[in-house]
Amino acid sequence: MAGFNNPKRNAGTLASTQKSQVLSISLSLDECAKLSELQQKLGFSNRSKLVRAALSHLALESRERLTLDKIVDAVLLVIHSDEDSEDVLDLRHRYGSLIRTQLHQHLENEKCLEIFVLNGLGKKIQDAASAFRKNKNVELAKLMVA
Ligand SMILES: [Zn+2]
Repeated sequence: MAGFNNPKRNAGTLASTQKSQVLSISLSLDECAKLSELQQKLGFSNRSKLVRAALSHLALESRERLTLDKIVDAVLLVIHSDEDSEDVLDLRHRYGSLIRTQLHQHLENEKCLEIFVLNGLGKKIQDAASAFRKNKNVELAKLMVA
């Protein structure tokens, strides 16, 4: 995640350790516009660096899918509004056996950040992340499997 949020560092690591190959890909005009918008918004100096970051992000997500039958460590990051804390409390109790550590931080604009360090069967961790994502009061639920 840190690498994803720090495009310069991420791209530098890739460029210094790997040879590159020029690929021809086709995107719709909307997708091209989105690419440029994201490049600007996230501060990537070129589109290749943005695509590399998106690729490592996808690789991380696919790794999460491959660990369903194994015991894994993971971090679940949740953002919700302060007044909807009860829903999150219910989910915290439902998946309490997976939670090793938790941190609650009040944010600006009456939002809350919850960080859960989880350990358990990959499938159960995916279920927990999915339950948070599906909850209408949860704005963001991002899972990272170690
Ligand atoms: Zn709070």
